[in-house]
Order: sequence, then structure tokens, then C-alpha cells
Amino acid sequence: MEIEEIGGVKVERIGAHSHIKGLGLDERGKAKFAADGLVGQLRAREAAGLVVKMAKEGRLSGKAVLLAGPPGTGKTAIAVAIARELGEGVPFIQLSGSEIYSAERKKTEVLMEAMRKAIGVKVREMRKVYEGEVTEIDIKTGSSPYNPFVKVPQEAVITLKTTSEEKKLRVGPNVARQLVEFGISEGDVIMIDAESGRVSKIGRTQESYTYDLEAEQIVPRPDGTVLKEKEFVYVMTLDDLDNMYARRRGGFFSLLFGVGEREIDPEVRAAVDQQVKEWVEAGRAEIIPGVMFIDDAHMMDIEALSFISRAMESELVPIIILATNRGITRIRGTEIEAPFGMPLDLLDRLVIIVTDKYNGDEIEHILRIRAKEEGIEVSEDALKSLRKLGEERSLRYAVQILGIAGVKARSEGKKAIGIEDVEEVSLRFSDVKEAVDHLRKYEEELLK
Ligand code: ATP
Repeated sequence: MEIEEIGGVKVERIGAHSHIKGLGLDERGKAKFAADGLVGQLRAREAAGLVVKMAKEGRLSGKAVLLAGPPGTGKTAIAVAIARELGEGVPFIQLSGSEIYSAERKKTEVLMEAMRKAIGVKVREMRKVYEGEVTEIDIKTGSSPYNPFVKVPQEAVITLKTTSEEKKLRVGPNVARQLVEFGISEGDVIMIDAESGRVSKIGRTQESYTYDLEAEQIVPRPDGTVLKEKEFVYVMTLDDLDNMYARRRGGFFSLLFGVGEREIDPEVRAAVDQQVKEWVEAGRAEIIPGVMFIDDAHMMDIEALSFISRAMESELVPIIILATNRGITRIRGTEIEAPFGMPLDLLDRLVIIVTDKYNGDEIEHILRIRAKEEGIEVSEDALKSLRKLGEERSLRYAVQILGIAGVKARSEGKKAIGIEDVEEVSLRFSDVKEAVDHLRKYEEELLK
């Protein structure tokens, strides 16, 4: 499954959940102790299963899910599982309530962008392409218009062959340049988009078959005619479309400077929505609502929370999953105390799922799954020692130590993590509480 990330800061966190393949429920929606990479947390997983059902039936609109539970009780893990249950290619966007505050951008803009990254659009398109095996290729170079001393490809004549015909094509500098760039030679199977001239190398012919480079498998030689119509399916997010549209509309300057850091104009978004709507009506596109997961949702202030409530009403919204570990707390930006620090209009629309602390057996099971995922063996006593770290400190800490101990063991050429690796690594790295105590000690000294 494709997983999208904002700003690329959380790559590790997602890696941390790579073992999760779904919610691990049976046909009746009952959670098994351990399945699809998830362990324990039965009540929450069954509730999440119902959320997935509601989403599939379109009955989640106007609502958001709240995962409430102490830190490190698998809230993120469950949100990831929900996205996986929704199907392949479903976007998953993770951000933290504090991440929306930056000096450069409006918080509502950050939220809006995240929301549009969490909505996929699957577009089907028929395109005319030239496709076949290259049997002859002749590239002519000439002086660059910018620098007479540099030779660049100017045109090419290529012969493409399929099972039923052979065609000679004369192509201009754009295609010729790509032929050189991709190192196209005789025996390659290529495709040239008839309109844009985009070249792709799709395979390499052997004696009687073609090896498809992307699928890494053997396929028949190109058949049919050289020029044909083919269906292409792209999956993009609304945010991708916003950027494409803004770039096109921005003309010359946006080509020079990009639109990267600039805000997307609301008009652009409206135009994209309209376009997508037309595609959907014409049967050319399908909307794939993904999951927008906001951790530490109590860190958002009243404006950001109201923005989310309002957004929930609009037509194109992802499944919004908020997570918090706070009970009654102040709504940021106000003096009001409220459950989870959230205003009433939002509370009214929440479907709430609670998560509980793990017991030792659950921790051990999760650690076994993680070890397998990281491709390293763990001796039984090392596992017991990791389990103890999980029980006494936190699951997250134990999983981290497992990862580092794995790197250490591997670098020493060992096949399995031993107890000495766990002990050594955990002595060197602190958990949050230990590090805080450490700093507090120095602060106290300073105050004396
Ligand atoms: P939270 O979002 O509540 O803080 P989390 O999902 O981020 O919790 P961590 O404490 O970071 O959980 O979890 C450490 C590791 O354990 C991660 O790899 C996570 O995927 C995994 N994990 C957590 N809960 C479960 C579970 N119930 N089953 C399987 N793996 C889990």
C-alpha cells in the first residue's frame, strides 16, 4: 500500500507500523487475539471494524473518530489498520496536533493540505501510444541552440516492431533526447505517448519473449499494431491535482520558481473539485477517501478544531481520526475546560474508541512480531528482558531497543539478538521519563 507522509518527518513512525496489515477480525467482526499484525486491544479493534463498515457504506460523513487512551497503547497502530482495511492504495496521512503551527503557514492551510493529501482520485484514461520492440535506431545530433560547442540529440528514426507490423517513425528533439537519456537500444520494448512524446522503456526482448522490467516477469512479445489506444489508471491525491493545476495556471513564473512553498489558491481547489466531479460523473474517475490521522489532537486550538468540524460537513473529506491521551483539559485558545480539550460542536460528532494499557503477554507478542518484521531473531532470554522493559517503561521504548539491538547484533555478525545486546543498548539509551528525571536533577542544582 502507498503511504503518504507530510514533510517526510515521520518516515520512521510509519516504518514502525509496517507489520500491521489490517484489524485482524473474523467474518463476524470479532477480534482474534493476534491477527493481521495486531495484538490485544480487542474492544477497540472491534469498534474500529464497525467504523470501517460505516465508512464503506458512506455513513461516516459528518463524523470523526476519536481514539482515546494513554500514550503507547496502539492508537496510531489502529488508525493504520483502519486505512489498510479500507483497501489497497488508500492514502494515510499522519500529523500531530502541534505540527500545524508554523511561522510560515496558516494552520488551516496546513490542515487543508493534509486533508487533500488524504483523498485519492483514481483516474482512468485512454491514450494513444506507439509501442513495440526497437529493431533499428538512428539518433542524429546537432549543436545546441544555447551553446554551439555542445552536441545534443536533434532527431531520430526508429523502427518499432510488433507481432503484426513494423513501422518506421521519425521523431523530434524531445523524444530523441529521451531515447538517449534512457539508453534505448535495439531489443528494447518501448512506449511513446503519441501526444506528449513521453518515452518509457517497458521491457527487453529475449529470443522469443519479452521481460517486463516493471513487473519483473516474462510477457509475450508486443502484439497488435504499433499505434494503439491503451487504458491507463493513475492514482493521485487531490493535493497532487491542486499542485498540477496551480503549476499549469501559474505559467512561466511558476515553472521557474515552482509552486512548492506557496499557498494554493482557493480558486485552484474549487477548479480541481469541479474537474474531479466531472470526471466522476463521466465514469472516468473514482474518489478514494483515505485516512487523516491527527495525533495529540488536544494540542489544536479552537480555530483549528472548528475548521475540522466545518470540513467534516463538506463533500470531499477523508476519514478523520483524532487521537488524544487527555481527559478533561483546557480547549487551547480559550479558558474553557472540556473533555479532551474539544469544543461541544466537535464532541457531538465524535465516534469514540478507547484503548487500554497492554499486559506482559501482549507486549511479548508485539515484540515477536516486530522482530520478525525487522528480519532478526531474538533469543528467549533477550525477549524476556525486552518484555520487562515494555512492562516497566513502555512498549514504544521496548520496540525501539529491539530495533537498535538488532542493528548492533547484525553489525557484529550475529544471527540473533542476545540478552547482552538488549542490556547494553538499554543502558545507553534512556526512555522519556529517565531523560526527564536526568534534566530535572540539573535544573534543581541550578536553582540551589
Ligand atoms: P499511541 O498512538 O497510542 O501512542 P502507537 O500506536 O504509536 O501508540 P507505540 O507505543 O508507538 O504505539 O507502539 C510501538 C510499536 O508497537 C509500534 O511498532 C506499533 O505499531 C506497535 N503496536 C502498538 N500496538 C500494537 C498492537 N495492538 N498490536 C501490534 N502492534 C502494536
